[in-house]
Amino acid sequence: MNDQREGNEDRAEAAGERAQHPPQQHGESPETGIDCDAPHFFSLHRDALREWCGERGMQRHTADQIVDWVYRKACADPLQMTNLSKRNRELLAQSMRFTTARRIDHRIATDGTQKLLMAWERGASNTDPASLPVLNAAPVASGRQTECVMIPADPRRTACISSQLGCPVGCRFCASGIGGLEGNLTAGQIIEQVFHLSTLDAVERISHVVFMGMGEPLANLGAVSDAIRVLHAEWGFGISARRITVSTVGLPTAIRRFCDFELPVTLALSLHAPNDEIRRNIIPWADFSTIDELLDACDEWFHRTGREITLEYILLGGVNDREEHAAELAEHARRIHANVNLIRYNEVRGMPFQRPNSDSVLRFQEVLRERGVNTHIRASRGRDIAAACGQLRHEHAAATRQ
Ligand code: SF4
Repeated sequence: MNDQREGNEDRAEAAGERAQHPPQQHGESPETGIDCDAPHFFSLHRDALREWCGERGMQRHTADQIVDWVYRKACADPLQMTNLSKRNRELLAQSMRFTTARRIDHRIATDGTQKLLMAWERGASNTDPASLPVLNAAPVASGRQTECVMIPADPRRTACISSQLGCPVGCRFCASGIGGLEGNLTAGQIIEQVFHLSTLDAVERISHVVFMGMGEPLANLGAVSDAIRVLHAEWGFGISARRITVSTVGLPTAIRRFCDFELPVTLALSLHAPNDEIRRNIIPWADFSTIDELLDACDEWFHRTGREITLEYILLGGVNDREEHAAELAEHARRIHANVNLIRYNEVRGMPFQRPNSDSVLRFQEVLRERGVNTHIRASRGRDIAAACGQLRHEHAAATRQ
């Protein structure tokens, strides 16, 4: 049985690993005149950028000036990098792709949460995205679109980003899984999302990053790891590793592999159910590994890294929100010394799940706390802008079909 599960898990991981990157366009973009085979700035480590600059006759410190413009000053338009020579600005504009996503939608909630729907399309934009028009009126066909969200909670500015195009897991309550997996994002595309969020009006410096957008980050571990290195690097976004959270639905082998990652990031397990029966009903990948196997892997994470795990638990009215479910969950949390984050479900149109009422959420928390489990209810943010994972993309796709 375990062999069977391990085989399933390998297949699940392989589904992510095999996912094709968005096809590259060769030649020159008719829109920008830029070479479409040109490197994507956000895919380059500073050392590689230094090398690239050196090969083109630029001085070594030019690379440092460029990363300073992008990561410190949030400017990705080489023509505005005024301390570079005119020749270097023009050369950069022709031979380096800075931002490669187009903003399809940008919504701002009454609580300040901002959400971007991005299309990773052919061609490249070399313009500072802050000056790009928002194309609310023209929904494009679903495909190659991801979402990212900026959540302000003073003094924090949290970027919630995607790791894949679509999601292979297909949780029954989540719009991101509709349509399955379209591809993996590259490290550069993952980092570029944080850049776009950092350029939004009134956004202070991004202080936290959570991989809780579209996709299963551990099924795209190579790109996610590379992206984290740049997000953390002092020359990059300079975000403390502990303020970077990778949230997984759970692949025991990948969790064990991730224990060796050199940076002390935070791991969250999206458990969402108190037992295997309920979990299999709402998360198809629960067929690949039992809660017991997941908790074993989490226990190993705790002992090898010394860092606690957070259990994420989305409360679905009438499905997993009873007091006896809270008691079961408390047992799991105590076994691996985990904190619990409770999330009240945000309804997604067309999905058969309901948001539980406040009283039952509070009672659920109380049961966990009575059993000594550190439990928080995560505030619902951006409910008025379709902030639930994948919801905005889903709405655009529905609008396109009409
Ligand atoms: S909840 Fe997460 S893992 Fe599940 S389908 Fe949505 S994005 Fe994928």
